[in-house]
Amino acid sequence: MQEREKIPDTCPHCGRPLSPWEQVLLSVDRAIMCKGCWYRIILDAFEDRLSETPPSPPEERS
Ligand SMILES: [Zn+2]
Repeated sequence: MQEREKIPDTCPHCGRPLSPWEQVLLSVDRAIMCKGCWYRIILDAFEDRLSETPPSPPEERS
């Protein structure tokens, strides 16, 4: 069972809010061009960032 994908609701470049329709297009096409700054929002890039595993703190043993 897959977790639901996280679709960004704003442009990460200029912060312009994406319309619900643009979010649908983004989820389908995996990419969309922001109409505010022409930044290419790529969904896979978000997944990469989100799936980065944070460094686990070393366990202290005493
Ligand atoms: Zn933008």
